[in-house]
Amino acid sequence: ADATARYTAANPASLARHEAAKASLPGGNTRSVMWYEPFPVGIAKGEGVQLTDLDGHSYTDFVSEYSAGLYGHSNPLIQNAMREAIANGVALGGPNSYEALLADELCARFAALERVRFTNSGTEANIMAISAARAITGRDKVMVFREGYHGGVLLFGHGGSVLNLPFPYVMADYNDIEGTEALLRAHKDSIGAVILEQMLGAGGCIRASDAFLAMLRRVTQETGALLIFDEVMTSRQHFNGLQAVTGITPDLMTLGKYIGGGASFGAFGGRADLMARFDPGAEGCFGHGGTFNNNIISMRAGYTGLSQVLTQEASALFNALGAQLQTQIDGLFAAHGLAGCTAGYGSLFAVHFMPREAVTPQAVDQADRRVQKLWHLEMMLAGQYVTPRGMIALALPHSEADCAGLVAAMDRFLADHAA
Ligand code: PLP
Repeated sequence: ADATARYTAANPASLARHEAAKASLPGGNTRSVMWYEPFPVGIAKGEGVQLTDLDGHSYTDFVSEYSAGLYGHSNPLIQNAMREAIANGVALGGPNSYEALLADELCARFAALERVRFTNSGTEANIMAISAARAITGRDKVMVFREGYHGGVLLFGHGGSVLNLPFPYVMADYNDIEGTEALLRAHKDSIGAVILEQMLGAGGCIRASDAFLAMLRRVTQETGALLIFDEVMTSRQHFNGLQAVTGITPDLMTLGKYIGGGASFGAFGGRADLMARFDPGAEGCFGHGGTFNNNIISMRAGYTGLSQVLTQEASALFNALGAQLQTQIDGLFAAHGLAGCTAGYGSLFAVHFMPREAVTPQAVDQADRRVQKLWHLEMMLAGQYVTPRGMIALALPHSEADCAGLVAAMDRFLADHAA
């Protein structure tokens, strides 16, 4: 109550924005993940990893737009690319020279990606990948995993959403090797697609075990189901995607978030023989429209980001910084003798207020979030912009000093509140 009162008193302009927005947006909101109690701060400006809210407070940004803000804010190279794109007109009704350049960059980077097509969001990319897999295999069912998140209509936390697309789902438990294999074999003639993240992102940054992924690769090859890796979030965790770390190559994969340089983006692709079905000149081809699929802002900003900013070295450095920050936060919990830990990999992880042994997708979903909520508000009051559910995403401009700021704020929080 005390933290809520201090937060409310500190943020009158954000509160006024929130209240005014309710007149036309349900609950004042158009992105569910941006809502938290008592009300979210409105953001006015970002530069590097600094954010300024409507009341003039500045924050170090550890939300990084839920992993999409990999480049930090207002990167001059990417801003210039966007300005140049706009200068020549947008939405010109024809192919442009940047879509193939961006596609080349992506196919060179991700082993699974021989051919790729663009969409406007990660959600759309997953819908297209799943739909293609069902059409190619001629099989109806889609295997998904509890606590998986693949977009607003493909949401399997809390047991699923009433808004989910009406695909016939076979729901399995993440990292349950035996149970999942049994389900795959029981439905071997009807499962056309298996979709998962190699690390549950929204589901608490819990990684898949090597044995679980190896089983999925082997058994889908036997049954003929197509294996789809959703790398919308995880692709940032290694220069060549998390698939380069796990060593497993799926049949299809999806991308989104930072790849558009901060503009709206999604992509799906994979094996050339499968993606050949999308060749508009081929007989019996699949149609795939989307007015803004090749929009010049995403294409040009995305190409500039990948070709000039997210180098192999930059990727390795910011992922190493994330690993170091995780170790430091784990060390704080140990030093204070408190139950808590981080889960994740490199530049993307989550802080959990429970012992490491207890961290499973289900336990994270059902956790009592009182301490976590308090942590969130206290971090905000301390100028550390973090997500209410504990996810932390680094951006390329984060420095050791930025990370030290978060560690110091967490140290004070653990000393004061969590004993
Ligand atoms: N897949 C994963 C793993 C995601 O985390 C997200 C978004 O958070 C999506 C898909 C959906 O992407 P978008 O928000 O661009 O539709």
